[in-house]
Amino acid sequence: DDARLSAELRDMSGASYGRYKSLQGDWDFGDFTLTIDKVQSDPFAPPSRLSVLIPADVAELPETAWHSPVRRRATADFLARRAFRTLKGSRLRIDVGGQEVIDRASVQIEEGDLRLRLGIEMPGHGRRIDGRTAEHELCERLPDLVDALCWPELDTRAAVAFADTVEDTAALRDQLSALGLVAFVADGSVLPRRSGVSDLPMDGEGKAVPFTAPDSLRVTVDLPHRGEVEGMGVPEGITLIVGGGFHGKSTLLHALERGVYDHVPGDGRELVATRPDAVKIRAEEGRRVERTDVGSFVRNLPTGADTGDFSTDNASGSTSQAANISEALEAGSTTLLVDEDTTATNLMIRDARMQKLVHGDREPLTPFVDLVRPLHRDHGVSTVLVMGGSGDYFDVADTVIMLDGYRPYDVTERARRLAAERVDADFTLPAHRVVDPRSVNATARGRARLKRRDMDVLTFGENDIDVRSLAQLVDPGQIIGVGLAMRLLAEGGLLDAGRTLAEALDALDERLATGGVTALGRGYLGDYALPRRFEIAATLNRLRSLRITR
Ligand code: ADP
Ligand code: MG
Repeated sequence: DDARLSAELRDMSGASYGRYKSLQGDWDFGDFTLTIDKVQSDPFAPPSRLSVLIPADVAELPETAWHSPVRRRATADFLARRAFRTLKGSRLRIDVGGQEVIDRASVQIEEGDLRLRLGIEMPGHGRRIDGRTAEHELCERLPDLVDALCWPELDTRAAVAFADTVEDTAALRDQLSALGLVAFVADGSVLPRRSGVSDLPMDGEGKAVPFTAPDSLRVTVDLPHRGEVEGMGVPEGITLIVGGGFHGKSTLLHALERGVYDHVPGDGRELVATRPDAVKIRAEEGRRVERTDVGSFVRNLPTGADTGDFSTDNASGSTSQAANISEALEAGSTTLLVDEDTTATNLMIRDARMQKLVHGDREPLTPFVDLVRPLHRDHGVSTVLVMGGSGDYFDVADTVIMLDGYRPYDVTERARRLAAERVDADFTLPAHRVVDPRSVNATARGRARLKRRDMDVLTFGENDIDVRSLAQLVDPGQIIGVGLAMRLLAEGGLLDAGRTLAEALDALDERLATGGVTALGRGYLGDYALPRRFEIAATLNRLRSLRITR
């Protein structure tokens, strides 16, 4: 068929662009099958979509590269990166990850078979077909790409080493619970990034201070490939990260946020792992809140609103943060990550002088400092909190880590000597909610509409959803993944029959556990990657059309 495709493309040269459509369908190249899924209608439209199936006996991937779900995801990611490099200067496009290794549609391994999903800008001279270039891309560059992904051209040893690294991180994360930890940071890890807009490790010889655990928090873990590794264990309970400004507090917390994902070799955070259900919490003035229970934080609003069933189109800093916490707990998080840089101060602390001036019955907010202990004691939810500006949390912290010149010290004892008695408030877990699936509509004017703008906005049907504050949405593909997940929740019946949101997310996780990311696709031809349930729930909660029925 490849000769036939060559001939057809040459024959099409100079014809009107629309004739490209006739190429849709399967093309047997012998070694692999090309499927032209969808052809763009003009040269300025989004790229055309292709898929390529390379059978296992051609790919010859060693079974160790894909025999478990973790290794399969890692090897697929490795291949996507190699494909991306191979396609430099080509019109063929492949979606590839950043520093995280995330299951994505662009490369999937199925029992050793390789399935690629690619884009291509079909070449034209104006609105006329450029058949020569199209032939070069599809009949030369594409087979070259396939060769580059197959033995013997593929460096299978490097692929296996990549999978080993990812498997170690995943194994580390799996051990955290049994060790009573919420996170682990290995000695030698490089946490700072190159800049605020680059996720690459800080460069320059000797500039980044590698991580070294304080002795009292040092833990040894045993990993399948590296063996014994030492580092800092962040225990369950309430952990405070203190230190002067610019000493690396936020950098450590950011690394913990990202520690729910696996990182590529050389990233510096390969052996930083956080409980998979850890959620970064922040204030987010202006967000919508739909019938969320924030009663533990807010009571007796001057408006008389029922804070156990709280809605607003324009939340304040404190109520948005309270809603963010409630919704994370509703979705099943047992670890909250909080940074003073992005919190509402009045939700975090209320000092003695302010309490004297504004009496309890006048202040609707119960500060987090009074809730964080019951949250752990009564509900098993841990908190890791960066707080350099107030000592109030000394009263409630189980562990206090001080960063000094980017080095962590255990100052728990010193902080304890400065602590005061504190009376806790009560924390009641938020009520579970039921979503009206009809309020989650992916269509606009009768057609499915799913788009993203950078890392900022998901367009879902007729709604634009602001996702900028979701720190653990790290990959553009995840934003589309979230949209597909929301569509599946609503159209796939997962939200039906009065299921609570949490139950619907459980059902979704079950499908993803067996089907992988492509269980989200259901005919979607574009690129997407796997999001966590927490980001799916968070995005859904920000959907302005969302209606809660209970
Ligand atoms: P804080 O939150 O304590 O004010 P940040 O975490 O924002 O401090 O870090 C301040 C600066 O120091 C940032 O530019 C960051 O990149 C840099 N930095 C953080 N950790 C390290 C490190 N281990 N080595 C070198 N530079 C670091
Ligand atoms: Mg900071």
